[in-house]
Amino acid sequence: MKTLLNTYWFLVPITLFFLACSSEDQVQEELELSKKEVTRSSRSGLKPIGTGVLMQAFYWDVPAGGNWWNTVKTKVQDWSDAGIDAIWLPPATKAQNGAFSMGYDPFDYFDFGKYDQMGSVETRFGSEAELKSLINTAHTANLSVIADIVINHNSGGQSEVNPVNGQSNWTKFTPLSGRFNRDYNDFHPNHNHSSDTGTFGGFPDLCHHQVRVQNELWKNAESVAKYYKNTIGFDGWRFDYVKGFEPWVVKDWKNEVGGFTVGEYWDGNAGTLEWWANQAEASAFDFACYYRMRDAFEGNNLNKLNDDMLWKRNSTKSVTFVTNHDTNEIYQGKMLAYAYILTHEGYPTIFYRDYEEWLNKERLNNLIWIHNNLAGGTTNILYADTDEYVAKRNGYNNSGLVVYINNADYWQERWVETNWSNTTIKDYTGHSNWEPVTQAGRWVKIQVPPKSYSVWAPK
Ligand code: ZN
Ligand code: ZN
Ligand code: CA
Ligand code: ZN
Repeated sequence: MKTLLNTYWFLVPITLFFLACSSEDQVQEELELSKKEVTRSSRSGLKPIGTGVLMQAFYWDVPAGGNWWNTVKTKVQDWSDAGIDAIWLPPATKAQNGAFSMGYDPFDYFDFGKYDQMGSVETRFGSEAELKSLINTAHTANLSVIADIVINHNSGGQSEVNPVNGQSNWTKFTPLSGRFNRDYNDFHPNHNHSSDTGTFGGFPDLCHHQVRVQNELWKNAESVAKYYKNTIGFDGWRFDYVKGFEPWVVKDWKNEVGGFTVGEYWDGNAGTLEWWANQAEASAFDFACYYRMRDAFEGNNLNKLNDDMLWKRNSTKSVTFVTNHDTNEIYQGKMLAYAYILTHEGYPTIFYRDYEEWLNKERLNNLIWIHNNLAGGTTNILYADTDEYVAKRNGYNNSGLVVYINNADYWQERWVETNWSNTTIKDYTGHSNWEPVTQAGRWVKIQVPPKSYSVWAPK
């Protein structure tokens, strides 16, 4: 059965192309596409992840109708030109809510929009061919593509009686891909294991202790992880709801297939995030930084930026963000928060809507440029009070910078100690037109506009 389906796999799209194509142009386009697919696995030109900025390339709810992959495809070259190095896509396979699902209720891990099940062929985001075309375009633009992996829970199975506890549950999965059929043995409770660290929304809770589940998810040659990487073309992993299972699951997956890996451990405690990141040998979204920024910018107390964050403990494991598809609590101070994460340590994320719809794209591009060209080295906080914050980056293969954030509604100025003596500096955001010269002792006076920020470095 498996072998037969694997054969189909490559024949079906080609047949569909020619059946669907009415004009010469389309045929030509599809031929070009399939040529590119031959070279899909070539990733030699990708920017190293972490040298730039991550784009979260979706929000809750992107328009339904199967066009999202095409929408993103039109933007990846511009994003790359602006200094983005990777894009994070939503869960890409068929989920219980079919064409309406955002993907977090996974049903068939191998149906990227080509089997008629859960009420549709395509996913909310499009077809498998459209996804592959997007990934090829992103790779051509030197961007890595990060898959959203939901393996805590599954959804959309049939009901069966679990002999372990005698109760009925929706644990019988026979997806049309024919891959990773599941039953109660693959969920909690089973004969080997009763539960793990968390369940989600009452959905059947996958048991990663079961050898068969490990094989199907990441160990087998035909596992989800290897199929996503080698056949679809994903380069890295964002794991959803990692509080729901133990960190070794992420570690084993990553060690099996490699690639940049980040977990959504939704917790504001920096120590807990550090513990998880160390256990999983992966990065974690810096929810500590997120909540401190919310308290600082929305609570009007920039002293909160002195508090503990994951990036301060381990910058190489911190993925910073201002908002995401689940949470958007920083409103007034959102540009200030972006100025913060794009000048500080950690791997910063930009949210699709902030970039494409809500904020000033030129301003964000300026901060991305500053991140990629000036924001190197360790960090020292030079000053903080309720409405002012000044920090310096000490430089690493670049000059470093001084960032000055102002949450008051009037201009402010301040003498600060930089790393530069007798040097003319300027504000790379263009908010201030001062070009002061630092003293021999490296002190200089800088300024910042109301509810804004300035970023200083040698002219
Ligand atoms: Zn288990
Ligand atoms: Zn989540
Ligand atoms: Ca779980
Ligand atoms: Zn989420």
